[in-house]
Amino acid sequence: MSEEKKSLNFIEQIIEEDLKTDYKVSDLKFRFPPEPNGFLHIGHASSICLNFGLGLKYKAPVNLRFDDTNPIKEETVFVESIKSDVKWLGFEWAEECYASDYFQKLYDWAVELIKAGDAYVDSQSSEDIATQKGTPTQPGTASPYRLRSVEENLELFEAMKNGGTAEKAHVLRAKIDMASPNMIMRDPVMYRCLHKAHHRTGEDWKVYPMYDWAHGESDFIESISHSFCTLEFLPHRELYNWFVDRVSQAGELIPKQREFARRNLSHTMVSKRKLAQLVEQNIVKSWDDPRMPTISGLRRRGYTPESIRNFAESIGIGKRENMIDVAHLEFCVRDDLNKKAPRVMGVMDPLKVIITNYPEGKEEWLATENNQEDESAGEREVPFSRELYIEQEDFKEEANRKFFRLKLGKEVRLKSAYIIKAEEVVKDEDGTILEVHCTYDADTRSGSGTEASQRKVKGTLHWVSIPHAKEVEVRLYDRLFSVEDPAADKDKDFLDFVNPDSLQVSKAYVEPSLKSAKVEDKFQFQRIGYFCVDRESTEDNLVFNRTVTLRDSWKNK
Ligand code: ATP
Ligand code: MG
Repeated sequence: MSEEKKSLNFIEQIIEEDLKTDYKVSDLKFRFPPEPNGFLHIGHASSICLNFGLGLKYKAPVNLRFDDTNPIKEETVFVESIKSDVKWLGFEWAEECYASDYFQKLYDWAVELIKAGDAYVDSQSSEDIATQKGTPTQPGTASPYRLRSVEENLELFEAMKNGGTAEKAHVLRAKIDMASPNMIMRDPVMYRCLHKAHHRTGEDWKVYPMYDWAHGESDFIESISHSFCTLEFLPHRELYNWFVDRVSQAGELIPKQREFARRNLSHTMVSKRKLAQLVEQNIVKSWDDPRMPTISGLRRRGYTPESIRNFAESIGIGKRENMIDVAHLEFCVRDDLNKKAPRVMGVMDPLKVIITNYPEGKEEWLATENNQEDESAGEREVPFSRELYIEQEDFKEEANRKFFRLKLGKEVRLKSAYIIKAEEVVKDEDGTILEVHCTYDADTRSGSGTEASQRKVKGTLHWVSIPHAKEVEVRLYDRLFSVEDPAADKDKDFLDFVNPDSLQVSKAYVEPSLKSAKVEDKFQFQRIGYFCVDRESTEDNLVFNRTVTLRDSWKNK
């Protein structure tokens, strides 16, 4: 095998094989087929990157198809959010399609199936139909309605379509094989009656096609060459082919269903239905709550499209289901933001420092680089003055030699500013430290070129000048679930494992350059983590979401 061949994933290998036999490159066409019953999540990102990635690789069109065959759960807001998420991820679809646009065509084909003796109206209860399905080792039992005449079937099906029959009175079933070893082939339901308005077709239809009937036919209508879906549809492939076979002519290119493994992410749930429960039960605030594994939640949290694409690329396409550690997703965003995010200073947990030998009322604007990883990011100036905040945890009265921060009688450098020395502490009656009095060495300003400025001290701290600092709100997020797989224990509800401390809101003090930060702007708060301006932010109350800490601290907990 050549080097290039080796690096192809198994889906690409399938395509390469097909190109050697019955397909031309110009035949290739893909689709991403979400059901608009919720917001897209990180699992969908894998499918999006797979399909649109193949489109880019083979210069083939990729349709965005809404699989909108169940009016009970589908809504226009979900359609809009899905479109916006796919675009934001950086992909362009060839056509925006809807299974509901094919309702008439599907209905006409179903009529043809009835006429050909391949479908019939069953008037039993869904319970009876289920018991007659048999078991994997025992054949099913034929419905007493299986031999209904074509005329009667046509009449009933039309009445079903027009709402002239009760909702649960009848279904349309394909007449295949009640003894098939594949239970899905035992006369599957093609249509059920739902007297519900559809978000696009309104009151037009009282019958709605089932997934298996709608999906392959939609692929066929759109001339999709390869229809990729997750592994649970493997047993449906036979039915997919059976249905497409009913409506295609000899010599026509028919779509191929191929399956890949669903991707799961640890400490969260990747299922629209389960995520919907989190929203409905107010466990999170919305679908785009920054704790959600939705594309819009990750976006609001501060993830970049590149970081999500890199994530999907790096976990690849697999044949077996597995659980990806959320730490890997966090690694991907850290890696991307490290290159892109401007550095700023912000203090989360302030401790007041007074530089006693710095003149009162004096201020200096000190030049500092925006991103040491990216020279083109340039410089900005941060104000320095006599009164500063540093982090509480960066000071100890006494500490061992490994504490490279500020302690009494010792020196540290203030980032982009001076070397200071802690001289004494001021405490209240309870012994709580109120202020640390320090002195600074005026010759040590960073970048001043003096000999003293080259002096090495262990430890550099971030800080803000108190009179210049802006108080902001920070939202710190933790894992949404406290266990790796909240659905692992079948006897328990996944909601039992929600982490009660997944959100912590607090105040922080940031340098004044952040006053002009806009929604979705991303920063590295030096030594703390990556932050992103939340959409609830206002001029008076800047709100930052912590995207991720600088290092993976979860493992130590
Ligand atoms: P959910 O249970 O979250 O609703 P779904 O598979 O029912 O998932 P669809 O809207 O039908 O959601 O999915 C659109 C496409 O995305 C399908 O091709 C589906 O197989 C794929 N997909 C969904 N979840 C994942 C996942 N976790 N990993 C990979 N692909 C996924
Ligand atoms: Mg689904």
